[in-house]
Amino acid sequence: MTATYLFTPEGLAALTRHAATDTLFAFDLDGTLAPIVADYSAAQLDEPVRTALGRLVKLAKVAVITGRSRKDALTILGLEPHLLVGNHGAEWPAREGARDRQQTGLCSKWRDRLSAMLGQVQGVEIEFKGESVSLHYRKADDTEKALALINVAIEKLEPGPKRIGGKFVVNLLPMEALTKGEALVAAMASFGLKRAIFSGDDLTDEEVFKLKNDAVFGIHIGKDDQTAAPYYLNNQSELLGLLNAMVGILETERNVQDTA
Ligand SMILES: [Mg+2]
Repeated sequence: MTATYLFTPEGLAALTRHAATDTLFAFDLDGTLAPIVADYSAAQLDEPVRTALGRLVKLAKVAVITGRSRKDALTILGLEPHLLVGNHGAEWPAREGARDRQQTGLCSKWRDRLSAMLGQVQGVEIEFKGESVSLHYRKADDTEKALALINVAIEKLEPGPKRIGGKFVVNLLPMEALTKGEALVAAMASFGLKRAIFSGDDLTDEEVFKLKNDAVFGIHIGKDDQTAAPYYLNNQSELLGLLNAMVGILETERNVQDTA
């Protein structure tokens, strides 16, 4: 099945049918709400996107589900959505005070093992994120060789991690950690909402699109023949148009209710 471009009469009609004040509006962060930048630590929301997202937050429940830590993501967002889930679905707000010790303990053990095995490999960076560990190899001169060495090192971890690929990054999570798909379903349940709209651009977001759940309206950021999402936008710069469309639909619905 190929995805349909969202900004067509059919696409917008489908969005309008699905978007309501009792829909959960969920988004990935990097490459979706925020443009991808070369320096990972310099990512931020464009001001018009932040403003539009702020309006959406006042009209309906908004969740951000990201591979970053919650702390990192909050800084980039510059505003608080109703729910922010970090570490690819594994890090939830309730755990902030006492972060899941078993998960973080295991990840810190992996970090030490990986540092011993990969510490000397050129261009490989090990990022410990509490509930997950990310191995970045974008800066390697030979990215294929770096990935091969990363794979060998991962094989030696005990117990073995759940592995999620990305753009020049391999993410490792404990087997029992929630995926983004499981996190979205849990988020809908926690708000008591039966429908969601989710936008994302990366491999980890396919965990949501693959749910094949009619209640979840999937939008892939970027045209991609491999995505399981039914709809797509051409690139991240169209996200502002999407947010404005969502706000417009909800404001119209509210006005109709006010005059009824
Ligand atoms: Mg992304």
